[in-house]
Amino acid sequence: MKYFLIMASALLLMTNTFAREVALTFDDCPRKSGPILKPLDRDLILVKELKEAGITAAFFCNSPTRETDGIERLKLFAANGHLIANHSASHPDLNKVSISDFTKNIDQADAELRSLPNFRKWFRFPFLHEGQNSKDVEAVRAHLKKNDYTNGYVTVDTEDWYVDEILRQKVASGKSYDKSRLCHVYAKMMADDGDFFDKMSVEALGRSVKHVILLHETDLNAICLSSLAKEYRNRGWSFISPDIAYKDPIASTEPLSTTKLNEGRVFALAKEKGYSGPTQKTWGKVLEIEQELNKQQVWR
Ligand SMILES: [Zn+2]
Repeated sequence: MKYFLIMASALLLMTNTFAREVALTFDDCPRKSGPILKPLDRDLILVKELKEAGITAAFFCNSPTRETDGIERLKLFAANGHLIANHSASHPDLNKVSISDFTKNIDQADAELRSLPNFRKWFRFPFLHEGQNSKDVEAVRAHLKKNDYTNGYVTVDTEDWYVDEILRQKVASGKSYDKSRLCHVYAKMMADDGDFFDKMSVEALGRSVKHVILLHETDLNAICLSSLAKEYRNRGWSFISPDIAYKDPIASTEPLSTTKLNEGRVFALAKEKGYSGPTQKTWGKVLEIEQELNKQQVWR
């Protein structure tokens, strides 16, 4: 019996070490010009890098008409096998608008996006705000259900947008950057976030769920994609299509909590289960991100 238990726990450890799976998702497309690239150039690099890394991603998009070449760029993602999903038409914050305005905004994006190839009826809440009280949460969930939508939740929340913002500020102030150092530090931060939420998943939910990482359609993600993929793979992760990730049992387990939904589904479910482990990521604070980039001498 003792031998069996040792073997079983060794097997469990191996499972957790080797079966870590993650899907990449990019929000806010079509995004405006970034710090260093024109939007179409950025997207051409992004699809090339994704192809070379063998990754199928999902793009959670707003109204394509936000940008003059918006439709063309979303079609580029779809033509390269990536999935397109709904992130609302104008990115409203559910904490600040009425339920009726919010659901109309979802429907508008649906009308504008649904004819694109590889469209999926997944809705990702802007700012991951799913409602401030249970009444609001239930109202939007009912609207999504009525329209055959499911929640395009995330499990790995990151601050990728902030690193892109620092890059923008540095370039605007005349600095240049060491690409290799920038991508190395960035990939490490993103993979640390993955490890953090996976540890929480194993501790609170008893297993490594199929993860979904939240990134944005930024210059940084285009130029550093290969570093990010390499770092995750070096740590024992493999990449899966978002179609597979959203088949995980947590996809049909809507959290009951209405107050902690904006840090991802694993976090919300862990809190419900009384998880008392660490909740502060290493790279959850903007000041520490900035300090690390300076320490690693990214800027020239
Ligand atoms: Zn967004």
